[in-house]
Amino acid sequence: MTSATILRVAIDAPVMQLFDYLAPARGEVQPGQRVLVPFRQARRIGVVLALADRSGVAPGKLRRTLAVLDPEPLLDAHLLELLGWAAGYYQHPPGEVFAAALPRLLRHGRESATGAVVWQATPAGRAALLAGEAARAPAQARCLAALVDAGRPLDAGALAVLAPRWPVAMRALERRGWAERSRHDEWNAVGGSPDEPPTLTGPQAQAVAALTDGDGYRACLLQGVTGSGKTEVYLRGIARELAAGRQSLVLVPEIGLTPQLVARFRRRFPAAGIALLHSGLTDVQRLESWVRARDGRADIVIGTRSAVFVPLPRPGLIVVDEEHDGSLKQQEGFRYSARDLAVWRARQLAIPVVLGSATPSLESLANVDAGRYRRLLLPERAGSARRPAIHLVDLRRHVAQDGLAPPLVDAIGRHLAAGGQVLIYLNRRGYAPTLLCPACGECLECRRCDARLVLHRREARVTCHHCGATRAAPEHCPACGGALVAVGQGTERLEAALDELFPDVARVRIDRDTTRARGELERLLATVASGEARILLGTQMLTKGHDFPLVTLVGIIDADQGLFGTDFRASEKLAQTFVQVCGRAGRGERPGEVYLQTHFPDHPLLQLLVREGYERFAEAALAERRAAGWPPYSYLALLRAEAATREPALAFLTRAREAGEALGAHGVRLLGPAPAPMARRAGHHRAQLLVETSTRPRLQRFLADWRARLDALPEAGRTRWSLDVDPAELF
Ligand code: ADP
Ligand code: ZN
Repeated sequence: MTSATILRVAIDAPVMQLFDYLAPARGEVQPGQRVLVPFRQARRIGVVLALADRSGVAPGKLRRTLAVLDPEPLLDAHLLELLGWAAGYYQHPPGEVFAAALPRLLRHGRESATGAVVWQATPAGRAALLAGEAARAPAQARCLAALVDAGRPLDAGALAVLAPRWPVAMRALERRGWAERSRHDEWNAVGGSPDEPPTLTGPQAQAVAALTDGDGYRACLLQGVTGSGKTEVYLRGIARELAAGRQSLVLVPEIGLTPQLVARFRRRFPAAGIALLHSGLTDVQRLESWVRARDGRADIVIGTRSAVFVPLPRPGLIVVDEEHDGSLKQQEGFRYSARDLAVWRARQLAIPVVLGSATPSLESLANVDAGRYRRLLLPERAGSARRPAIHLVDLRRHVAQDGLAPPLVDAIGRHLAAGGQVLIYLNRRGYAPTLLCPACGECLECRRCDARLVLHRREARVTCHHCGATRAAPEHCPACGGALVAVGQGTERLEAALDELFPDVARVRIDRDTTRARGELERLLATVASGEARILLGTQMLTKGHDFPLVTLVGIIDADQGLFGTDFRASEKLAQTFVQVCGRAGRGERPGEVYLQTHFPDHPLLQLLVREGYERFAEAALAERRAAGWPPYSYLALLRAEAATREPALAFLTRAREAGEALGAHGVRLLGPAPAPMARRAGHHRAQLLVETSTRPRLQRFLADWRARLDALPEAGRTRWSLDVDPAELF
């Protein structure tokens, strides 16, 4: 055989291998193109990763590619390399890795050259529908009604399910002036004159210079509290890339991609093409953003986690904002770290990458120590904002009523009287985390998880926050019939207590329960920004992305949640949350105060954090990690298994351990199997086995050999298992 006749294809299936197919009889195929192939009894779409002359599959058994879907490669050589590397590094099936990198519509075979044409109803169309004027042409009526109902543009896919002859119907609606078509290009250049950039402070100028002087790869850790001017540094870096005709990729945590952030980019760069990639988009919008990035029409791509895989034909700069944030790590399926891949990608493309945070991860700080990242420090904003005064409230001395101890209640009253806003943080939603029967000691538990049911009093329901199971809240103990008591607090209970203490003060609660409806979060935040709401109460949602310049007091209801967590990262997370919550306060002209309630005011970690700040905390925490041999001074992988009963999960892990030991890998420690910290969840028994090594290459070599053996274990088929490399959480 002279030319390559075999295609090596990645197919979205949970297997580690690639699949070989005969090339189509005619035409040329290149790596990075999608193909339609027969797969088992069906047809599947895959991505060609390589061409070959021969295959391990017997010639008679090789099946032929049915069609090539892209005229040009969809993914360039750099992306193919990145994804191939990621599949190897994370020991994940390559087909699933490629699937994760593509917008859903492309995975399903949609043409990639779309300018994504969409249609929407005109005001005349809306009137016509109401007046029943379209009723005589059923296909038209159906399409028009769908457009009016949707209240947003619909694409061909959405219309095609309504009527087989929808193109005819839509043409008729357009002729009658009832519908109009456009290309979905929401964030294309708007023009106008850009915002005047501020004069950089000295440290900002140094940071910008470190990012923009010279060419080639470099990784910078930009450390500065919220409001210290990190985003301004990003904007300057992006400005340079724009001027040079290159693209910038900005990765943000899930909750960080706010309309305010986008508007700020928009105002600074009105002539630039900006593409957004996040989970709030429709499939068509995602495809459109992706295609605009790939075609080079988007100069700036702002997106969450998976945007790290977006094609960039002329890459210039990668920004990872809030690099410590947990949502940058995918927690199921293909468990990658977008931050780590962003750094890998920057090196591959020989471009700078900047990781920004007020509270850098210990991993990134260790990379600074090791000389791999350059640290750029932005001191707190000069002038107005000062460090808030922090008070520890000893809950052993002050008895809390509904979660609020008297010193905090007094402080709230004081700040309200002085015209300030108050922020109360409690990372637990619902009314109470436990329903207890004092007579027999019974607690209401989820039937499918090792977890207590949380009382949601307004809805009169008890709900499991792990599996979502929910039922009407019982009044009496199912065991002895005694009356049940709600123990502990959630945001709903705190809200009731605050309403009672401060009945005339406007208040908002922000957690997942109060922000379910679309636009509700924005509405609540607007009442905070306007100063209308005076007490602001909520969960983790409050600690990210938003600024509350009028807040002068922050109350942290329960600092102990993080002090004794089972995870080795618990204290790091507590410190980050603490600094982030405090950073929301006192950003305006008035000095801020923080009240932190705890049963352990003498805890060394808390003391360090409160007295000396994140920096010193991080040093101590790193020293502790080094002494204990935890990351970043060791490298971990976690093999998780779950099954309907305990036995198959443990059996698999035990065999997995034996297989690992048989490999005789030196310097690899296997710990377990042990039940997961929550041993039963959603009816599944869960257990895990931890792999620990002192170097990354050693871990990689071990995992590559081990993974192949795991697939071959007879027990592997009786349990659901997954391998998590560099796990963010050990459960
Ligand atoms: P961060 O991203 O660290 O939260 P920002 O870049 O958003 O900080 O800056 C906080 C505020 O300070 C913004 O309103 C920004 O416009 C302003 N700002 C940033 N840098 C400067 C500067 N050098 N001079 C004046 N104002 C600045
Ligand atoms: Zn449950």
